[in-house]
Amino acid sequence: LSKHFEVGGGGLFGLRKPATLKAVDEVSFTIKAGETLGLVGESGCGKSTLGRLLLRLIEPTSGRVAFDGNEITGIGRMEMRGFRRSMQIIFQDPYGALNPRMSVEDIIAEPLLIHGARMNAETRGKVAQMLEKVGLPARALDRFPHEFSGGQRQRIGIARALVLHPRLIVCDEAVSALDVSVQAQIVNLLQDLQREMGLTYLFIAHDLSVVRHISDRVAVMYLGKMVEVADKATIYAAPLHPYTQALIAAVPAQHPAQRSRGKRQRIVGDIPSALNPPSGCRFHTRCPHVMPVCRETAPPLRTTAPGHQVACHLIDP
Ligand code: SF4
Ligand code: MG
Repeated sequence: LSKHFEVGGGGLFGLRKPATLKAVDEVSFTIKAGETLGLVGESGCGKSTLGRLLLRLIEPTSGRVAFDGNEITGIGRMEMRGFRRSMQIIFQDPYGALNPRMSVEDIIAEPLLIHGARMNAETRGKVAQMLEKVGLPARALDRFPHEFSGGQRQRIGIARALVLHPRLIVCDEAVSALDVSVQAQIVNLLQDLQREMGLTYLFIAHDLSVVRHISDRVAVMYLGKMVEVADKATIYAAPLHPYTQALIAAVPAQHPAQRSRGKRQRIVGDIPSALNPPSGCRFHTRCPHVMPVCRETAPPLRTTAPGHQVACHLIDP
């Protein structure tokens, strides 16, 4: 799956000539029903673009997306409607995502109305039930988004995303804007709802500490490429890609004792521009293990063990 944007010319982005931004570049992966796949990488690496591609909120430049074995790339609007109900997104900024002039009841009911329901007793019942599921009191229904805290607003956003009983949810930095203690509450809520409603999550975050608790597997992206995919235990205990290793080293240790003995390997330098990404392995400008081949040839994503894939020249099965 690839998504390229044509940008620039006329001085936009400081570019005199148009250029191609490869936001997502030949990425291939699977999310299993009922699991949570954590998707991690620095901002600008293509995570959000990838999440939107899965839901067909944007169209790929090439490649395809299948849901339940049905290809949804290129199908018509009417056919897509059925899938739309099953796939929803929760955004980072719950305030920006909620219409400030709509009551909580209207906000949560909106997806039902879009999919043909009327604002009647049945719809109100579904909204009230959803509100309870996300842990908000019934009196919240006729209030407005600004009357709630960030965590409560995110609960409203979750209720809105789940009211159609979807199956796949893209959580795009859904807890990143919240305080750490509130983050934990929202992550716990998402896990409870996952069990109760049989949900599948693509859980996007820019650091590995946030996805640790919730993920079954973790995929790491760097400048539009997927560089490592593994189950959670493997990613945190035995990461193989130098970028994943650096991200792990940047996660604060959970116990002070670990903190002192962990060797903190910092990632040096800024993330290069996706507009003009480095040749060969895109991580080579920051990699502590860089070799001559890395500057010339892009390493393919290779399977090193069942369920573990890595794109790095150091790993040669
Ligand atoms: Fe580092 Fe080379 Fe591996 Fe890229 S391919 S991560 S530059 S060792
Ligand atoms: Mg993003």
